[in-house]
Amino acid sequence: MNDFLIESEGLKYTYRNGAAYVAVLDGVSFSLCRGEAVAIVGPSGSGKSTLLNVLNGLLAAQAGELRVLGRSALTLSQDDWAQLRRKHIATLFQDGNLIPTLTVERNIAFRAGLAGLAENDGAALMERLDIADTAERYPDQLSGGQRQRAALACAFAMQPKLILADEPTGSLDYATAQRVTPLFFDAIRERKVGALIVTHNPELAERCDRKLELREGALCPWDSALSS
Ligand code: ADP
Repeated sequence: MNDFLIESEGLKYTYRNGAAYVAVLDGVSFSLCRGEAVAIVGPSGSGKSTLLNVLNGLLAAQAGELRVLGRSALTLSQDDWAQLRRKHIATLFQDGNLIPTLTVERNIAFRAGLAGLAENDGAALMERLDIADTAERYPDQLSGGQRQRAALACAFAMQPKLILADEPTGSLDYATAQRVTPLFFDAIRERKVGALIVTHNPELAERCDRKLELREGALCPWDSALSS
């Protein structure tokens, strides 16, 4: 496999509700390499969540080419996509996607187990993310910031090749975001994970290797100076 985790060319996605069509992605072309972090910015409704869902196989593009982890989306069955999401693609959504009936510690162990890992570095991850004291708590006993850090720990515990993140610091207060952001990037760089990060947080975007804007259904280089 080459170093590309994602290669897309001319991806299109249109929602269809009865007779109504909403064209959201209209020729998305970009690539993401191992160890690279790319920020995606764009106004609400520009299609960022739709793009993440196409890239993790929950939605199927109607046109264009997509290769994920070296495999063409055309050849991937629903089971193949599910396997990729279990083992190699961590998706971090704003709501944290933790299992409500498991403690933080068990959530982390569960995600590692789903990825086929017998051991997990949950204790070290919780320590690094400053949530060691929440190990025995359930998600509804956590603050928004703790929940998001627990979700980050789950994502890293599965040792993914690719992280698709939607505002990974969105529910953190400023001070916590300042502390968690470097940890997020250290983990990405150390483990050579590729990360696509949807964010409105300029500090997070600035730490990425490239910044792209989703505009009128396509991705283009983002010049923060022009958009401010
Ligand atoms: P963003 O994440 O950038 O806010 P989304 O990908 O959520 O944007 O949505 C892009 C556009 O697609 C919006 O206009 C939204 O209303 C529309 N949309 C999202 N989901 C659906 C759906 N299931 N059916 C129809 N339109 C949808």
